[in-house]
Amino acid sequence: MTTSERVCRRCRYFVDDPHAVEQAFVGLTILSSAWGDTRGNQGLCIVHQQFLTPKLTCNHFTIRR
Ligand code: SF4
Repeated sequence: MTTSERVCRRCRYFVDDPHAVEQAFVGLTILSSAWGDTRGNQGLCIVHQQFLTPKLTCNHFTIRR
């Protein structure tokens, strides 16, 4: 696997499913929803507990199965 393929989008710790994102951020639906354009393709890293763009990477990368 190349370095460019080791990105959050392909990592098992990256949560980008709208239902899962809404559950992770209690109260998010008061302002909007995880289905909207504002979130785009960003998701939650459950290792770092941060909302990230899917193009990042880190040493904890583990391929999503
Ligand atoms: S920051 Fe690291 S652990 Fe988190 S989703 Fe991206 S590659 Fe995976």
